[in-house]
Amino acid sequence: MRLFIATLSTETNTFSTMPTGLSGFYEYCFRAGTATDEPPNLMTEALHVWRARAEALGWDVVESLTAIAEPAGRTVASVYAGLKTHILNDLREAGPVDIVLLQLHGAMVAEGEDDCEGDIAAEMRTIFPNATIGMALDLHAHLTPRMMTACDLIISFKEYPHDDATPRAEELFDLALRTHMGEIRPTMAAVDCRMIHLYLTKSEPMRSFVDRLSAMETGDTLSISLIHGFPWGDVEHVGAQMLVVTHDDEALARSTAQTLAREFFDLRHAVTGQYTDINTGLDTSLAAKGHPIVLAEMGDNSGGGAPGDATPMLRALLDRGCENVATGIYWDPMVVRQCQDAGEGARITLRLGGKTSPMSGDPVDLTVTVMKITTGLGQHLGTGLEPLGTLVWARYGDDFDILINDLRTQVYHPEAFEQIGIRLSEKHIVTVKSLFHFYGPFSEVASEIVQVSSPGGTCPKFDDIALTKRKIPFWPREDDPFAS
Ligand SMILES: [Zn+2]
Repeated sequence: MRLFIATLSTETNTFSTMPTGLSGFYEYCFRAGTATDEPPNLMTEALHVWRARAEALGWDVVESLTAIAEPAGRTVASVYAGLKTHILNDLREAGPVDIVLLQLHGAMVAEGEDDCEGDIAAEMRTIFPNATIGMALDLHAHLTPRMMTACDLIISFKEYPHDDATPRAEELFDLALRTHMGEIRPTMAAVDCRMIHLYLTKSEPMRSFVDRLSAMETGDTLSISLIHGFPWGDVEHVGAQMLVVTHDDEALARSTAQTLAREFFDLRHAVTGQYTDINTGLDTSLAAKGHPIVLAEMGDNSGGGAPGDATPMLRALLDRGCENVATGIYWDPMVVRQCQDAGEGARITLRLGGKTSPMSGDPVDLTVTVMKITTGLGQHLGTGLEPLGTLVWARYGDDFDILINDLRTQVYHPEAFEQIGIRLSEKHIVTVKSLFHFYGPFSEVASEIVQVSSPGGTCPKFDDIALTKRKIPFWPREDDPFAS
């Protein structure tokens, strides 16, 4: 038995002005067949699982490329062509392959290719028509008919924040093995839920809905994935879809997907959050008795393709005279360089943020003290450790602490601040550039969490998002998209 594994992952925000080039992959994670020599991150957890499972069974494992880039705009055409060719050449050279397992994002868009994952899987199918091909996806994916035709099995994460890459990888391995042994004949059906939004799975009623999907995976119902979709991708198949895999029963797959898609739609108001504006969020924070109040700066989440250098929240914190603040992470390599040159302890005048596009707001001029500079630290996302690049802790005034780095990343975990010396428990207000991934770990330290719909590349206002390619109506652009 021979197993072929690979990872290709970036979540493309087609509205971003920042192209995804090779440097985006090189600086985040690019390993030509050696990703499992290192501790896992979110998108390589599956490779570790699959290698371990296969080796325990005495199989040959051919590990191909792992290429992960922090989300930004469309991947440059030549870069995408190079990555795809690398993986496909590895597959051809691997010789006869029984099973192909891929950890892909599902929302990767390149110049001239809206469905990178479907494109790669379709070419793999032509190389080894009889191999079992299984695809593990982030739930923020655009599920396409081409992916479904090319693959035997597709499973997405069930949890947002994503902390279930390992169990999903185990499931995909089990199903692929049973498929290859002829024990099951997977049949997939997907139904569009006609919704474009974000859905946090840790709170009710989303928690119970997701748990019920898992409980329904019995008998001939092999797997159920609620694919949330990625709102900031202007592609035809953007939006939530219910995907059901059955054993040789297309009618069951379709009817189950239809029923669950409609049930999910009926929960739309209950499973989506209410987000406040910056000033209301600060009103709440300043009036609160407990501390710290954690404000999520949702509009500038680099994990969704925003630049990470937006300043509207920082401007508001300063204009309102907020004290005892920790705020970050601001992506500003120029400022990091200036602080490195000045050195720890230096007083320096910075022009921070607001550089990549008008969506980032204006730069903010500040005189700060460079408190500390570190390189090589990481922050946890689930069990995986995500890189932080070079981090600078800059202090404005007596207790206004700003975290700046040179590697675009959202805030996942309090350790992003704590490791460098910023004590969050002592802060009144903490602002984090993130949508939801920070939520669990920060719940441990926050007195209260406020989700702020700040301006920027991932501003969560979905009724007027400028999608042009989707053909099916959706909520919240339409109140009842099933009526039209
Ligand atoms: Zn995701």
